Amino acid sequence: MDKIYGNRQLLSTISAMHASGRAAHSVIFYGENGTGRRILAEYYTRLLLCEEPHDDKPCGVCRSCRNVLAGTHPDVMLVPTSGKLGNYSVETARMVRKDAFVRPNNSSGRKVYIFLNCRSMDPRTQNTLLKLIEEPPDYAYFLFTTESRANFLTTVISRCACFGVSPCTEDEARECLTERGFSRQETERAVSVFHGNIGMCINYIADEKLRERVDLTKSLADSIIEKDEYSLNAACFSAGRERADVRSVLQMLDLIVRDAAVLSKDETAAAAGCSRETAMQLAECMTAGQAMRIHQLIEDAWRAVESNINIPLALAAMCAGIMETVA
Ligand SMILES: [Zn+2]
Repeated sequence: MDKIYGNRQLLSTISAMHASGRAAHSVIFYGENGTGRRILAEYYTRLLLCEEPHDDKPCGVCRSCRNVLAGTHPDVMLVPTSGKLGNYSVETARMVRKDAFVRPNNSSGRKVYIFLNCRSMDPRTQNTLLKLIEEPPDYAYFLFTTESRANFLTTVISRCACFGVSPCTEDEARECLTERGFSRQETERAVSVFHGNIGMCINYIADEKLRERVDLTKSLADSIIEKDEYSLNAACFSAGRERADVRSVLQMLDLIVRDAAVLSKDETAAAAGCSRETAMQLAECMTAGQAMRIHQLIEDAWRAVESNINIPLALAAMCAGIMETVA
């Protein structure tokens, strides 16, 4: 995949950096899942390593560009994660620190380390990397992708260029999905649920499990609308015990609740969540204050799930809190 949709401002910042000859050595690409953080980190990598960039953009056809896209460039390391939670260990950080002092062996004279999906990265890991990103060898680059900058220590953030990656417009998402060969019907359904988030739109079409999670999210919201504690608990229970699945349901539910808060003040506002219709119904039966309280409860549950707390327990506490709020 070569074409990048949306994020024009970010792309021109990257080109300007390249033109000035001062590409940042450490970069954090942050934004919600599916918005193309990884694609942009790869784009940045290609530009750094491209044999013949045009107009401060990677050519896309040289051996180096092709190898980066194929994941086979010898001087690009996709840093491995470890453990069930897929985190970066201190040992891995030490390995990177050691490896970074081995000179690259390609015509660009650069090497790039990519840390994908950094979540709650151990502060010890970050501190092990800190010295390296403070004073990197002149040929070494360190790219991080993450949902939120808050996943990093302020000392690390202050040493990095931080690039926010945004969803595209719905029209750009339609264009991309059509170009990829999805039918009009598939495209419209996916865009109605995930709007300009192309990665999530594609997942929605391809992944039945995600479609089930979207339906489950809607039934959670319906249970809140009906003030039905039993079905709220039952729906939460069917979210399962897989951390990533539960997190994604909580995130989608949170978006519906936030949409409801916005729509209760402005009926014409655009929705960010997976069901505008459900958010409208929710807006009719609760105040913006109640919606904010529920948002807080979902966020608390999300954080509990993230930090390895017993999932059913975290969800039960959330359900009880929600019922108390809407009672
Ligand atoms: Zn190239």
